[in-house]
Amino acid sequence: MTNVVTIDGSEGEGGGQILRTSLALSLLTGTPLRIENIRAKREKPGLLRQHLTAVNAAAAIGGATVDGATLGSTALTFKPESPRAGEYTFAIGTAGSTMLVLQTILLPLALAGGESAVTIEGGTHNPSSPPFDFIDRAFLPLLRRMGADVDLTLEHPGFYPAGGGKIVVRIGPAKRLARLELDERGELVTRLARAVVANLPYEIAQREARTAAEELEWPEECTQAHTLTGSRGPGNAISIIVGYEHVTDVFTAFGERGVRAEQVAHDAAKQAKRYINSGAAIGEHLADQLLLPLAVGEGGSFTTTPLSSHAKTNIDVIRRFVDVKIDVEEVRRGVERVSVTRNPPQKQ
Ligand code: ATP
Repeated sequence: MTNVVTIDGSEGEGGGQILRTSLALSLLTGTPLRIENIRAKREKPGLLRQHLTAVNAAAAIGGATVDGATLGSTALTFKPESPRAGEYTFAIGTAGSTMLVLQTILLPLALAGGESAVTIEGGTHNPSSPPFDFIDRAFLPLLRRMGADVDLTLEHPGFYPAGGGKIVVRIGPAKRLARLELDERGELVTRLARAVVANLPYEIAQREARTAAEELEWPEECTQAHTLTGSRGPGNAISIIVGYEHVTDVFTAFGERGVRAEQVAHDAAKQAKRYINSGAAIGEHLADQLLLPLAVGEGGSFTTTPLSSHAKTNIDVIRRFVDVKIDVEEVRRGVERVSVTRNPPQKQ
């Protein structure tokens, strides 16, 4: 039997991503996993609903035997079989992020050799998580370019704290994930400051879109304000969508009680400006999330703003499961180039 990989969840970023990346890699490589000190660096360590749903989802698609999958658990053992395509429904039961549950099972299902349809209920627009628009407009187009066949639909938006969101994902079989070269972003083609509200005054979205466009010195036709229907509770987010010839990236900030719409817009515009001015192909969040598909696919490279602690931690976890060379070099001030190369199998 393959040796168990033991991961210390308190290392590096010490958050939920270590768990999700480890589960995905355990499924993709068929390697049993033991993870300890889960989310040790977070205020409430251990498995919250979102993380527990990710574990249960991973176990369901991988026919895994699991020990320690309970709320608050800080250690678990996960022994998978092969991922199985099929129809699945996972409900987080809180406003926890559906996108993060999807992040755990997406690649294993994409490479499972059949058609899958997955419904996930919970939050769709969560702070500190990839929001729906980011996955839909930034992450998935790159995954499709690598050969994945994935369609994502927002059935209901779900905001913190009410939740009640629902996404449906169709995943077709992909034989492999091709190399992705993203050193250059190409010419600017799309600029959009898109603010949404649910069960809140439309005027909030208008103010946010206008403020963000002003800060970015974009014309008014680059703004959109929308009221989302079908949300259980109130919610507000602004996404700045910057599309280049070779890549689109999305920067998001969330409305909060007591925080002015102008401040929310400013937060999103600041993230977008940093990326735009850097000249790098992708921003901080795409960088940490692309590492996994590159490492289990045929590799590739990208330029990005300096790697976050999420990205560095992801690299460390990936190296524990996959024989891969990941090099990071500074190209110029504020821009790094990451290259991922699978090592050829050793000759016997
Ligand atoms: P915790 O750390 O409390 O366990 P968590 O489960 O949300 O929380 P993290 O380890 O913090 O896990 O990982 C969050 C993930 O969400 C990272 O991949 C990060 O890049 C991504 N993310 C956070 N904010 C954004 C954003 N605005 N746009 C895109 N992705 C984001």
